[in-house]
Amino acid sequence: MSNRDVRSGAELRKRADKVQRVKSSLFACPKCGKKKVKRGGNSIWECKSCGARIAGGTYSLSTPSGEVATRLVEEYKKR
Ligand SMILES: [Zn+2]
Repeated sequence: MSNRDVRSGAELRKRADKVQRVKSSLFACPKCGKKKVKRGGNSIWECKSCGARIAGGTYSLSTPSGEVATRLVEEYKKR
């Protein structure tokens, strides 16, 4: 194994750790403001408090802008 392989392996582990943490943590809801948003599925986040569904990133709620998130939620509701 070369030095580069070792380094990329460590990077992957670090990234996997981060993903695990993000997956199990709660995020603040943009609708009610409570920190009750949990990942409900691929790119869908659900607020356990008000029931709002937010389309965000697969592993994090952060989106380029709130407007985009709102639009995605509207599209999600239509399905
Ligand atoms: Zn909420």
